[in-house]
Amino acid sequence: MSQIDTVDIAVIGAGMGGAAAVALLLEAGFSVHVFEQAPAFSRIGAGIHIGPNVMKIFRTIGLEDRLSGIGSHPDYWFSRDGNTGDYLSRIPLGDYAKKEYGAPYITIHRGDLHAEQMDILPADRVHFDHGLSDLQERADDVLLSFANGKQVSARLVIGADGINSVIREKLLGPEKPKFSGWVGHRAMVNMDKLRASGLDFEACVKWWWELSRHIMAYDTKSDKSEYYYVTGVPVDGWEHDEPFVDSSKEEMEAIFGGSHPVIQTLIDATETVTKWPFWNRDPLNLWSRGRLVLLGDACHPMRPHMAQGACMAIEDAAVLTRCLKELGTENYADAFSLYEATRRDRATKVQTISNANTWLKEPEDPAWVYGYDPIRAELGSAQV
Ligand SMILES: Cc1cc2nc3c(=O)[nH]c(=O)nc-3n(C[C@H](O)[C@H](O)[C@H](O)COP(=O)(O)OP(=O)(O)OC[C@H]3O[C@@H](n4cnc5c(N)ncnc54)[C@H](O)[C@@H]3O)c2cc1C
Repeated sequence: MSQIDTVDIAVIGAGMGGAAAVALLLEAGFSVHVFEQAPAFSRIGAGIHIGPNVMKIFRTIGLEDRLSGIGSHPDYWFSRDGNTGDYLSRIPLGDYAKKEYGAPYITIHRGDLHAEQMDILPADRVHFDHGLSDLQERADDVLLSFANGKQVSARLVIGADGINSVIREKLLGPEKPKFSGWVGHRAMVNMDKLRASGLDFEACVKWWWELSRHIMAYDTKSDKSEYYYVTGVPVDGWEHDEPFVDSSKEEMEAIFGGSHPVIQTLIDATETVTKWPFWNRDPLNLWSRGRLVLLGDACHPMRPHMAQGACMAIEDAAVLTRCLKELGTENYADAFSLYEATRRDRATKVQTISNANTWLKEPEDPAWVYGYDPIRAELGSAQV
């Protein structure tokens, strides 16, 4: 970063949404730099679903085949009763998704996905250890001030800085996210113990109990060498300051013990498990102002139960890029309006269903989510 003190477009945050925005904007011919507070990224133990809606975006930046090769391709999203094992729904994915939705549905390790996203970005466009601490909106630019003492002038600023976004705070004032009343336990399980059980661990399955408690379990590698679960459990409150805390096999046993044999084996195969609070915000009434615009969790955070939060961030990045390309950076106000008009209803609908935790529990048609094509959909039309 040493020489650069003026950039055209600054993306704040190199998470999944920010990294996608940089790749897409570069591909579209824009000059863009990303500023990330972390000194580096590491492979934390967690998985993620990426739907065909987003694989179509990854196709345009050369990532679809790379991710397809690494991730798992489940044939179905199953929903099952956690006690009896009865099937509540079987949503076809696999070849059906490729044919009907136009791209594969994959589940993958988050670290592997993000590493691939970062790998395609030119190193001179990525500035780690740049936590945005303040900004000043001026007539012709935005002056960004970073915690490391550096200052950068940017013509446009994209806030992809997550649920505690500094850019959101500048637009709407300080407001802590709300605790949703739910936590999730996350674990990569011991594969030897799974195999020794002789049971079948389906590639993508959500197990349900009363009060919508659940365990979502899935492969994160194409060779089935990793299996991961994330729970959803309602709790009375969250009293910790840390982003997550350690949990234990005993806690898993206390919540989910005595269930179906597959669940018992998952608990027995749990060695390290962490517990994460799920934070939330109501839909924002402002997505942009002047030269500032939001995307992803900075704009519409949601509980993770639809497995579409990152997908919405990446869809945002694709649509925002298209709007800037169509109208030009000089017309940023119109481009930001077009972006919001295209995205608001869809992101809000996904946010609402995620928070309700009903997605695919019963048979339903997911085509409006997975069949959507953010690269070709009509701009300005709210497609839900
Ligand atoms: C348990 C769980 C499971 C999930 N499963 C799925 C799933 O299967 N599929 C799916 O699509 N989504 C899933 N999600 C949601 C998904 O993780 C988020 O929606 C997604 O990470 C949002 O991406 P983002 O880029 O907007 O924000 P983030 O991923 O939060 O990235 C923000 C980035 O900005 C950086 N940053 C923050 N502040 C600053 C600053 N001041 N200056 C500079 N940099 C800053 C951060 O370090 C970070 O790198 C899940 C979420 C959880 C909690």
